[in-house]
Amino acid sequence: MDGKPNILSLFPGEIGVSPDYRQKQIFAWLGKKGARSFGEMTDLPKALRAELAERYALESPRELTRLVSADGTQKILWELADGERIETALMRYRHGVSVCLSTQAGCRQGCAFCASGGNGLSRSLSAGEMLAQALYCGEEISRAVLMGTGEPLDNFNETVRFLKLISHPDGRNLGLRHISLSTCGDVPGILKLAELGLPVTLSVSLHAPDDETRGRLMPINRRYPISELMDACGKYFAKTARRISYEYVIIEGLNDSPGHARRLALLLRGRPAHVNVIPYNPVPGKPFRRPGADAVRRFARELEGLSATVRRTLGADIDGACGQLRSASRAGREPPP
Ligand code: SAH
Repeated sequence: MDGKPNILSLFPGEIGVSPDYRQKQIFAWLGKKGARSFGEMTDLPKALRAELAERYALESPRELTRLVSADGTQKILWELADGERIETALMRYRHGVSVCLSTQAGCRQGCAFCASGGNGLSRSLSAGEMLAQALYCGEEISRAVLMGTGEPLDNFNETVRFLKLISHPDGRNLGLRHISLSTCGDVPGILKLAELGLPVTLSVSLHAPDDETRGRLMPINRRYPISELMDACGKYFAKTARRISYEYVIIEGLNDSPGHARRLALLLRGRPAHVNVIPYNPVPGKPFRRPGADAVRRFARELEGLSATVRRTLGADIDGACGQLRSASRAGREPPP
């Protein structure tokens, strides 16, 4: 890295060139037109382009691998300027394409079932590095979910900066209502985010209806048990009026019994909630399995009365689970062709 600040992380007023309107113009080149070099900004004076190149980095992350699944899901492995590797996924739905972004290289949360936390946290990403995943993924995206590698609330300031950058009317202008932020349940982070009142959908990785089960799967539950998490979710709704989405990764023999489902229904009944039941994506080397289709159906049946969906498994033929491409590449294994 040459140590220059990444211009993608900046708002128009921060670029620091004159006259003032040029900053907006540059910001639009980046966010609206997807420029990947200053040379492309043809309506700027040459001297200004040279000044920008002198002062700022505009490095696109290097695309190392792109896997395309039979169902249209794509996974991209990128290399950042300092050699860190991160993953981005693209999911094709009827209503458009969602991009699933990483907020960190690695993760410090260490959830037992997850491929991302295996090697701990390498570093957090800058807002510009998050934005680059959306701008350069090669698709016109209509939604963004912060559900790739990393815990967004462990990288709070850059994540919020990213949310404001991507939704800026002079830039990419993706509405905050089309963005979801997924957290493992960092209660202080949720409360801090609630205070900002951004209309972003909060996705909470719940995965269990009781502290005993959840504590076994997610270390964070020992710090912030379910009752505190639910209080924080209530406050988030009070501030933003956005219904909370609860993710429930269903794992064979661990959290998949009808009893778990009934306790989940009891926990969420009467709350502004949507439940996303996600059949577990097996991770090589982990002792967890996806329940059979019957068990998933039985589980979902017990959730009657709640708003709930069972997520289709997308991209299972291309190393579906988060972080698997990155960890395969770190281990020196070639990703599948
Ligand atoms: N740290 C944030 C966001 C990243 S994880 C969070 O915990 O929410 C995104 C989602 O994928 C989380 O719900 C996570 O629990 C889930 N997940 C992780 N590994 C998975 C796997 N192997 N199969 C299915 N879902 C998984």
